[in-house]
Amino acid sequence: TKPLSMSDFAKEVNKPITEIIKYYFSQGMMLNQNTTLSDEQMGELALHFGFDFKKEQNLTKENIFEQFQTPDKPEDLKVRPPVVTIMGHVDHGKTTLLDSMHNSNVVSGEAGGITQAIGAYQVTSKSGKKITFIDTPGHEAFTEMRSRGANVTDIVILIVAADDGVMPQTEEAIDHAKQAGVPIIVFVNKMDKPGADPERVKTELMRHGILAEDFGGDVPFIYGSAKQKQGLEELQETILLIAELKDYKSNPNKFASGVVLEAHLDKSKGPVASVLVQHGTLNLRDVVIAGTTHGTIKDMENEVGKKQKTAIPSQPVLIIGLNEVPHAGDKFLVMNDEKVARSIAEAQLHQFVERERSNKQIFTLDSIKTHI
Ligand code: GDP
Ligand code: MG
Repeated sequence: TKPLSMSDFAKEVNKPITEIIKYYFSQGMMLNQNTTLSDEQMGELALHFGFDFKKEQNLTKENIFEQFQTPDKPEDLKVRPPVVTIMGHVDHGKTTLLDSMHNSNVVSGEAGGITQAIGAYQVTSKSGKKITFIDTPGHEAFTEMRSRGANVTDIVILIVAADDGVMPQTEEAIDHAKQAGVPIIVFVNKMDKPGADPERVKTELMRHGILAEDFGGDVPFIYGSAKQKQGLEELQETILLIAELKDYKSNPNKFASGVVLEAHLDKSKGPVASVLVQHGTLNLRDVVIAGTTHGTIKDMENEVGKKQKTAIPSQPVLIIGLNEVPHAGDKFLVMNDEKVARSIAEAQLHQFVERERSNKQIFTLDSIKTHI
């Protein structure tokens, strides 16, 4: 293996060296540009930065760094569905909205409560275009994913109940969306209720910097009822309009990479992870690494439990075959070499454990006190 210094590596993979130094700094390590990187470190960086590997070539421990892909050529990029997250205060109707859109989309009898398990699904709009919705288990998970560099969402739908107005978690959601720098669409829900006061919602949101078009801003406001299925089509068309303007694209012709949305241990299937493919195409039998876990994909299902052989960008799928349960927000990456995948997963695990330990021993306030 050709040892690479950090600066050579940065050149090789076309990343600013400061990004790499910053990454290690965030891991509690002070490395400089002359540090020689091991295969494991290079693999770890690949996972962190979401580098994809060239599909034509076989990955080996010897050529791992040569596999870091140069940026996609414009002609390789294909339009992908927008990935949307619904956020808002508890009881303002997130789940109802998701269910209403899903149910009106799924052929009856097809859905079997699996949406809960996968945490995401695709809806086909009236115009035939797809939208991927992610059901964030909570704002905390969203923040966690973002703090770990996993920007999964293209658009945030801010749902506000018309009879309740802006509440603490609405404010949190606004902060998250602003920090993520993604477009916001406001869905004013529960318009069917007698106490609905959409003007109040609009005014309250204005105070938080969310300006409706008729208030001189550019945030689309949709008024409807998740329960009565009102405004859903308009919501979908608005999402697709933004998607068209933003022109979300990705290269489907390479090894897949993306992010883990949810994962759990199934008694009979073992670790089950729902993942969102962000780049490339995921195939059955692919060797993947996800955070500190790894494995060969033995089975893949879509959100309605249908077996899949492949998954393309913006597609959420359940995968089976990982050796352990990964964490929500972990990045995954396909590497077609089991040994490399295992060694990187183990190196990451080792670092994770070290970090946990050192955090506890050195960096907590209590431990500092006991050391004084
Ligand atoms: P979540 O906590 O944001 O996921 O909110 P839910 O979707 O669980 O909704 C909370 C409650 O509000 C449930 O009882 C829903 O049936 C009700 N609800 C949701 N949307 C509407 C709506 O448009 N109109 C009315 N009247 N009730 C709604
Ligand atoms: Mg809910």
